[in-house]
This record gives sequence, structure tokens and C-alpha cells, in this order.
Amino acid sequence: MPLPTFRFSAAPGWKQLFSQDCQLCGCRALDSLCPACARELPFRHGAGCPQCAAEGAESQLCGGCLANPPAFDRTVAVFRYTFPLDRLLQSYKFRQNLVLTSLFAGALNTAVSGQPSRPDTLVAVPLARARLAERGFNQSALLAESLARSMDIEFATHGLLKIRDTLPQAGLNRAARLKNVRGAFDCSRSLAGRQVALVDDVMTTGATLSEAAKVLKKAGAASVSAWVLARAGREWAMPPAQNDPHQPDIAIPF
Ligand SMILES: [Zn+2]
Ligand SMILES: [Zn+2]
Repeated sequence: MPLPTFRFSAAPGWKQLFSQDCQLCGCRALDSLCPACARELPFRHGAGCPQCAAEGAESQLCGGCLANPPAFDRTVAVFRYTFPLDRLLQSYKFRQNLVLTSLFAGALNTAVSGQPSRPDTLVAVPLARARLAERGFNQSALLAESLARSMDIEFATHGLLKIRDTLPQAGLNRAARLKNVRGAFDCSRSLAGRQVALVDDVMTTGATLSEAAKVLKKAGAASVSAWVLARAGREWAMPPAQNDPHQPDIAIPF
């Protein structure tokens, strides 16, 4: 899958002014990653299960979706949640490395451009108020807002609200995750008849996205697509606890 390319065309002298450090290797680059590091990102090779994007079930529903269908209808996931994408995402969220927004939103934009239908509205998975105050921003909302702008689609800024705190999903099994997020969201407006894309940074079991999609459908959404930057799998690294800003030091110059 091609990465979004740097679109500024200028004379070589001007490029010096716009160059920055590659977020992985530290070399001077024209984007947040140099071309060599961009090629190392763990792009997924297939769409996986059409509903939840689990790998190993190419173009047919996986066992999980057959046994317990999630409330969202389909999923687009750009990356595997593994090195070095996991480190980039942790840096984005916990160290406010917001220069990565355009890289992430551009990769999502490229991934969803092949979808047969285009949503009417983008909604972001919200953070609880305390988490938002602590972090200062909602990474999923930043991605959704950037995508909405570049795709000229409405972004429902406060479309979905987190109405109660939940435990970090990391470390919980699927049943506990479902229970943890039950009743955690509310929708602030009517979405009658609208095709909605629900944006989040990482999908693990899909429990959070499914609960959010259920609420969007109660508000009238005709369909809900999950658009996620990364899909975690059993065989890959699991996301860290969402409220832990103290990530282990890594040998990458963030
Ligand atoms: Zn690099
Ligand atoms: Zn599935």
C-alpha cells in the first residue's frame, strides 16, 4: 500500500527549510518518516475478515464474527499493531508527537479510498473527560478531523460522547472488555439514514468499537464502518494500557 507522498514541490534550497527529523531514524527527511523507514511500517497485506479485519479469514467472515457479530458492518485497518508502528503510535499519544497526524491520516485516507461506498459522516471514538484532560487531545478525533478535511466529509465533532469512565481494556479478555464498555457511550445527535465511519487508532477485539457502533445505530445510522489505523492480533503486541503515559524507553530518537 503506497504511503502518502509529500506534496510540496519547491526548489532544493527551499526543501531545507521544510525538512525535519525522521521520527524513527533521526535523519533529515521531507516528511515525518524518511522513505527507508516508511517502507518498514507493518502494512497489512490483505483486508482480512470483511467485518472485523481479523487476519486469516480473507474475504469471508471469521469465526468470531459468525459467533458474536459486532455492531459495526465492516472494518478497514491500515497497519498491524506491531513494531515500529506501535512505538510511533505510543509516541503520538503519550508524548504528543502530533507531527505524525498527517502521516497517520494520509495512510488511512489511502486505505479507505478503495472502499465501494463513501460515508456521510465521520465520528471518532471519544475519550473520557478525565483522560482527555490528562492527555490534552483525543488522537482518534485528530485523525478523524484530518481525514474529514482531506476527504471533504462531515466530521461530527462531538457525535459520540463517553458518559462514564471505563477501565483500560488492555489485560482484559473479550468478555470483560465487552462488560467494561457497556453503556459507556452516548450519541449527541440524530444520524438517521447516514452512512457513518467510526475512527479509532487501534482495534484489538473490537469490543469498544462495537459498543460505539451500537450507539450510533440506535441514533439512526444506516451503517457503521470501523476505520482504524492499526489492528492488534493475538500473535502481535497488544496495545499498552490507555492511561499509562510512562512508556518504556526505546532506542528511537523521539
Ligand atoms: Zn528514517
Ligand atoms: Zn471477523
